[in-house]
Amino acid sequence: MKKVIFVNGTARCGSTMVDLMLGHDPKGFSLGEVSSWFRPWRTHHFDIKCGCGTYPCPVWEELKHVPEDELYRAVVETQSVEFIADSSKKLTWVIDQNRRLLASGDFEVHNVFLYKDPVSLHHSHWKRGQKDLSITAGHYRYYAHALDARIPFIAVNYDWLVRNIDEGLALLCERMGIPHFPAKAEFWRKTHHQLFGSFGPRQQMHAPSPRIYIEEFGADYVEAMPSIEQDFRCRPELQAILGELGARDIRKSTGPMPADSGTIRRPLFYYRQRWRERKMRFFPQPWPDREASSIREWKV
Ligand SMILES: [Zn+2]
Repeated sequence: MKKVIFVNGTARCGSTMVDLMLGHDPKGFSLGEVSSWFRPWRTHHFDIKCGCGTYPCPVWEELKHVPEDELYRAVVETQSVEFIADSSKKLTWVIDQNRRLLASGDFEVHNVFLYKDPVSLHHSHWKRGQKDLSITAGHYRYYAHALDARIPFIAVNYDWLVRNIDEGLALLCERMGIPHFPAKAEFWRKTHHQLFGSFGPRQQMHAPSPRIYIEEFGADYVEAMPSIEQDFRCRPELQAILGELGARDIRKSTGPMPADSGTIRRPLFYYRQRWRERKMRFFPQPWPDREASSIREWKV
């Protein structure tokens, strides 16, 4: 049976890169943050600048008018692939598409939730000048929402994965039931038609010497780490979520995979977010300046 693999997680969790790695296969397709095309909320979501670098992209010229509930079927049919990775991450989209796919019975569905250790996620914010630990801890509510919606998933610790990429990717592929081969992690060896998502991995696809980026902490951050870690240890809500993720971690869990039909629900947060998303289509936000300057440099 054809498969859809949702690669989920908070912002800056590494989902774009993992999506590309999973899609790196002659029979795979990496969609990227495709929900932003169907449910746009930023100004740049109204135009497709595909990861392949061709503008307009012939693949998306064919796919972009397909309704969202026909998307995966259309990708399978037009691209002759066996499995699709989708790193949209927005839980409203993940819930809706899981429910649709499971109800149709046409696809096997997998949900992978990437997560970083709090001290690692906080570093992504720290280096951008955001040092409030409560904000970093608040990002983990995303996983609490996923648990509340009863999305069956396996969790993958991104910090472990990126440092053990061949072993980690092989384990992930085994659990998804998709092929693994020695250069699987080198996603830039294939032309991907991936939408939106983090700019770093998209740049790597066209870089002269592409590589897998492993974030290193600076001396000032290393010095601050003991007190940051202590703060996170004293947050019971965060620790409870980390406990749930640990129990579902791919290294120890055999997990509820693939998803069972009919178990995924729409809690209150879903309706709040859908309302906000519908509003943002009409009042989309521009990208922050730093990202916007990157987009201008994008090869089109
Ligand atoms: Zn393309």
